[in-house]
Amino acid sequence: MLDLRSDTVTQPTKAMREAMMAAPLGDDVLGDEPTVQALEAKVAALLGKEAAVFVPSGTMANQLAIRCHTTHGDEIIAHRESHIIHYETGAPAALSGCMINGLDGPRGLFDEDAVHASIRNKDIHSPMSRLVVVENTHNRGGGSVWPLAQFERVARAAHGHGLAVHVDGARLWNASIAAGYSVRDFCAHADSVSVCFSKGLGAPVGSALVGSSELILRARRFRKMLGGAMRQSGLLAAAAIHALDHHVTRLTDDHTRARRLAEAIAAIPGLTVDPPPDRVETNMVFFALPSTGTDAAAFCAALKTRGVNMIPMGPRRVRAVLHLDLPDTVVDLATAALTATIHPTPPREQVT
Ligand SMILES: *Cc1c(COP(=O)(O)O)cnc(C)c1O
Repeated sequence: MLDLRSDTVTQPTKAMREAMMAAPLGDDVLGDEPTVQALEAKVAALLGKEAAVFVPSGTMANQLAIRCHTTHGDEIIAHRESHIIHYETGAPAALSGCMINGLDGPRGLFDEDAVHASIRNKDIHSPMSRLVVVENTHNRGGGSVWPLAQFERVARAAHGHGLAVHVDGARLWNASIAAGYSVRDFCAHADSVSVCFSKGLGAPVGSALVGSSELILRARRFRKMLGGAMRQSGLLAAAAIHALDHHVTRLTDDHTRARRLAEAIAAIPGLTVDPPPDRVETNMVFFALPSTGTDAAAFCAALKTRGVNMIPMGPRRVRAVLHLDLPDTVVDLATAALTATIHPTPPREQVT
């Protein structure tokens, strides 16, 4: 089975398991987990921030950031296709009492004019505009990459209005490798950044939130409140350190394969790759099925019987994600399975 549902399906490599087994451990809640502390220092330094906190998931990292930057009744500005809107169970409302102003824009991106236009008047009727969230890479936008200059303009606009800026960087290293900027240069314009080690980097569990020492201290309180403070979590932090040391530069292979897969799918009659192959920037390929006939769920079920697993991302939209647990033959095998699924051999004509 080729599992292309997500880059979260990877198994820890042998070397990663060895690094986990060799890690010195302590009790992180009591403040003496050496491997977690090493990971937090490493991530903070890589992203050019004062401090970092290790958390179980990217959702928790994003929600801690939102909780730290906002108070109840505030408004967050984010693209309407954002992960924080679609996939975090309404947490900004449930945990922080915030509403979200969803912006439009191609491939999950928006510009500074949209930020200026969405700032509320400071009168008694309006929520307080408090935080801009930028997702890089943008998942539902197609794994799209924020250009550094565009993010700089958006961040400057937000800061000019007194808002904070959070980057949902679940796949920030994919963006950095694809665009050729350093994660540090990108993060220079953000007040907080979340990153995931369990996406394309291949660690089994774990994310981090980075920012100023003051912000991270507050985030540690909220992490404890939500039950996210862990004990001998150095086992997991060791996997994340190994991932950062060994699985970042190879992301370019996933991007190359994604582009090749997009080109192959674009050549299959009936399937429409969107974003188109020349805009496939990182490790994701999205395609649409014909407007009549099988829907995405049924198509993926049929595809699975041919040994390829992809995920429906809408009634007629399917997503494939490339990652480090796939063989060199993945593009050819996936293309053959897709072709056979969309164009099953017609039944032989009855000879009478
Ligand atoms: C996966 C993801 C997250 C975090 O998801 P978890 O499953 O909670 O780790 C956040 N943002 C984006 C864009 C993601 O793709």
